[in-house]
Amino acid sequence: MGLVSATAAGRRARDRLAAAWPGETRVYDTTGDGAGGGAGPGSVRDAVARAFAECDRLVCFLATGATVRLVAPLLGDKASDPGVVCVDEAQRYAVALLGGHAGGANELAHAVAEALPGCRPVVTTATDAVGVPGLDTLGMPVEGAVAAVSRAILDGGPVRLVRHVASPLPAMPPNVTEATDNGTERDEDGHVLLVSDRAVVPDDRTAVLRPPVLSVGVGASRGAPADEVTDLVERSLADAGLSPRCVAELATVEAKAEEPGIVEAARRLGVPVRTYPADALAAVPVPHPSDAPLAAVGTPSVAEAAALLACGEEAELVVPKRKSEPGGPGARAAMATCAVARRRPRGRLALVGLGPGARDLLTPRAREELRRASVVVGLDQYVDQVRDLLRPGTRVLESGLGAEEERARTAVAEARAGRAVALIGSGDAGVYAMASPALAEASADIDVVGVPGVTAALAAAALLGAPLGHDHVSISLSDLHTPWEVIERRVRSAAEADLVVTFYNPRSRGRDWQLPKALSLLAEHRAPHTPVGVVRNASRPGERVTVTTLGELDPDVVDMMTVVTVGNTATRVVAGRMVTPRGYRWQEGS
Ligand code: SAH
Repeated sequence: MGLVSATAAGRRARDRLAAAWPGETRVYDTTGDGAGGGAGPGSVRDAVARAFAECDRLVCFLATGATVRLVAPLLGDKASDPGVVCVDEAQRYAVALLGGHAGGANELAHAVAEALPGCRPVVTTATDAVGVPGLDTLGMPVEGAVAAVSRAILDGGPVRLVRHVASPLPAMPPNVTEATDNGTERDEDGHVLLVSDRAVVPDDRTAVLRPPVLSVGVGASRGAPADEVTDLVERSLADAGLSPRCVAELATVEAKAEEPGIVEAARRLGVPVRTYPADALAAVPVPHPSDAPLAAVGTPSVAEAAALLACGEEAELVVPKRKSEPGGPGARAAMATCAVARRRPRGRLALVGLGPGARDLLTPRAREELRRASVVVGLDQYVDQVRDLLRPGTRVLESGLGAEEERARTAVAEARAGRAVALIGSGDAGVYAMASPALAEASADIDVVGVPGVTAALAAAALLGAPLGHDHVSISLSDLHTPWEVIERRVRSAAEADLVVTFYNPRSRGRDWQLPKALSLLAEHRAPHTPVGVVRNASRPGERVTVTTLGELDPDVVDMMTVVTVGNTATRVVAGRMVTPRGYRWQEGS
């Protein structure tokens, strides 16, 4: 590997790499003091040219622009050109400039970034730029050949994904294929990403994700030594072939929360102690109840019951209660018990509001959830809104209008199967959208995460001025899910209560009389000059904002892409903007 630098800072970074990879690098000296220096021997140009001809990979401590100019005349073809990585003067970025895949520059950029503190790899080849999830960012421990497998995923090499545990993972790129059997054999040049709670020892091409699915229940007599507790826990896991890195917690009865042997064992395992009241433990059916703990702490089982309780519904007892084997001279009684349970892996259902349309009104959290998902469910037009943000390999289940119930069912079923699902909707996913039908179907065995979005009402209000400055309601005029009598009663109530009203779904082809009717109900309590804002396609192409009055609104300008916000009796138009005062005192005083 050739190293070329032109400045003092570059030379320092160069020496660092040379020291990090002894025997693998070759330094091309330059005498010039900048990238622009001449063309003779000792010039940067000359050093780059020699390194380019002699090395299979090249790191240039130069600006990308300078490097591009220097290597351009040297370019041959993709198969034979070396991979070139540029590192900036401040060593913030290692940019894979040339030969990302074939030349190994992507891989090299990662390696350089690892070797230089604070440096980040910049990889722009198509499949990688969209981002492959970092194995160490998935919220669980990972061990084994993490760097090698990450690089294989990144560089498009064959990677087998083997799941012993159905933990929800983000989408993986297409070169990561899910194994249908449970075997971890890999192809000759392939890698394996294993998701497992088994105590397997990974080889140099296997990385193991350790989902926190195990709970160890422990009971201990007063003064039980930490060694005895720790030893019991470790042996119980080892005998069952389970990895200690998948243990989420030690669980016990409240009365033992401060028991030093338990506290210390948890510290050594690096997990918290979780405690439960004796009566909660007593209510858990267990295979091995006994009288001793009943007398001492008030429950016939501590270890088994606590492990099962910590793991929640559908927990599986994988190691039934066993007792410690006290070491040392003399045959004293066992002082600790332990049992291990496994939780059913919980799928993840994220209810993600995408906002009204504009990309910068999509929250960073929504973006994160979209990238965390392996399955995205939604209406086709909303999927289109964010398709470029999804990780390659994300399974997209889109459907047309009207298939709401089915869509909600699909999303829940996918999450129950252990996957990471994002159910998306415009605005907020809980407002006239999919969150409620989905949760009406959902059982307690999945994790649900709501990500709020900017609603159409809020986006429209921001365009109109400040129409929602006091109490307000939204009313949907669609009688698809709600009988018209109910809608009418609500509009009347809003009119009487002098609430600002935002009408959603105001008008469609074949549903054209509802809006005029609703406006006439409001007009019974509001003057014809009451300000009305009509906003079509808020924050989307074709956005149109109109401020008119209750007396003058032309319903023909309203369609299904529109919301209509009707002011209350205090709403005014100030400098062309709708303003609803925060309180009625303001109105009285003005
Ligand atoms: N969940 C969405 C509402 C979906 S109901 C939200 O929180 O905003 C669909 C209705 O919302 C449309 O008929 C229209 O009345 C309104 N709407 C959605 N997006 C809009 C936008 N960008 N501009 C104006 N109205 C919009």
